[in-house]
Amino acid sequence: MAYRSTRGSATHVLFSAAITQGLARDGGLFVPVRWPAIDASALQSAPLSAVASELLASFLEGDALAPQLSTIATEAFNFPAPLRPLDADGRVSVLELFHGPTAAFKDFGARFLASCLTRLRANASRRLRILVATSGDTGGAVAAAFHDKPGIEVVVLYPKGLVSPLQERQLTCWGGNVRAFAVRGTFDDCQRLVKAAFRDEAIQAACDLSSANSINLGRLLPQMTYFAATSLEVLRAHGEPASFIVPSGNLGHATACAWAKRVGMPIDRIVLAHNVNRTMPDFLISGDWAPRPSIATPASAMDVGDPSNAERLRDMFPNLASLRQAVSAVSVESEAIAPRIRAGYAAHGQIWCPHTAVAAEAYARLSGNERVSKRWVLAATAHPAKFREIVEPAIGATVPLPRSLAALMDRPTASTDIEPDIAALRASLG
Ligand SMILES: *Cc1c(COP(=O)(O)O)cnc(C)c1O
Repeated sequence: MAYRSTRGSATHVLFSAAITQGLARDGGLFVPVRWPAIDASALQSAPLSAVASELLASFLEGDALAPQLSTIATEAFNFPAPLRPLDADGRVSVLELFHGPTAAFKDFGARFLASCLTRLRANASRRLRILVATSGDTGGAVAAAFHDKPGIEVVVLYPKGLVSPLQERQLTCWGGNVRAFAVRGTFDDCQRLVKAAFRDEAIQAACDLSSANSINLGRLLPQMTYFAATSLEVLRAHGEPASFIVPSGNLGHATACAWAKRVGMPIDRIVLAHNVNRTMPDFLISGDWAPRPSIATPASAMDVGDPSNAERLRDMFPNLASLRQAVSAVSVESEAIAPRIRAGYAAHGQIWCPHTAVAAEAYARLSGNERVSKRWVLAATAHPAKFREIVEPAIGATVPLPRSLAALMDRPTASTDIEPDIAALRASLG
């Protein structure tokens, strides 16, 4: 399988080159040159590692890593993604994607990418520096996945003061080959700096550069796996396709869902659940792409004003009518988040993080007919303990820390403050 840039430059690359570069040379994002057709009925629906290696085989066809795909998938997908029904007949369920080491769904993509890059770099003469902009969870997942991997260095850029205390700990507690920069700005500034670094000759000259944001194909492709596995599980249990409500920020998660549908998985509706950062919902209404500064909300991992992966979705559905057919979007106000967490706890005894609550609120706003005529799956993107400052007052109870997070509490932390400009980044990288 070859990949091309969304910006149209003619060069095609294979999977390994695409994930090593991160971003195409013309600044575009890598997408497959054609869509493989996968026979869903022949796929296993469990375990996730088996789904991943069958589903992704055609995406790695011809690539140097293809023979190792099943080992990579087994190494990366070593934790479950259980589907928990909210009602007796399974009309609506929550897909818990937060049972990995950093308790957010980003562990799936980050661990897969780390397994791939570690193998690719085993005999490289130059160091690989991975730059990652994070609104909170990506940086932690990437740092954990790459910590102590030889020949690879991770630099995390996060918006100072705009991530939760536990998230900050997950970004800054590693040491060794992981450095954390607290950028005096927003997530969008961090993302802009990463993109600027790829165009900066001095930074490029120092070592090989890659990115581990969801602009990197090596994170996006593995995220198709749990959408595929879940849709197959729903189909086999109920004879109906699954419709997903996806908490969305940079739109990597939602793009992976749309890709899974495109290659033949039994997926019906895809609803993008955004907070008040409504660039995508507004685009679907107006057809004007108008990125804007991000607004801080309780669902902070989705505070993205210029979502990168919209470029992939728009490449896939170049006209507005087809995009509107493929996805719909809801924007949820910050004031609605805590009440939805409270309602979920009261009605179902489930504790949701603020992002999952945005999806649950989007579900509650569907028409009654839509709710009963489809099989809905709400993607639960993070463990509620990561956002205990918001969740605990909402439910009036404490949220126990998962063991993997508790283990980080004793480590020392370190980070460097930087201004949101490329000269500051260049200087701090050294
Ligand atoms: C990253 C993240 C999201 C948004 O995912 P995108 O792929 O950026 O749209 C939602 N919820 C949580 C908890 C996240 O960490």
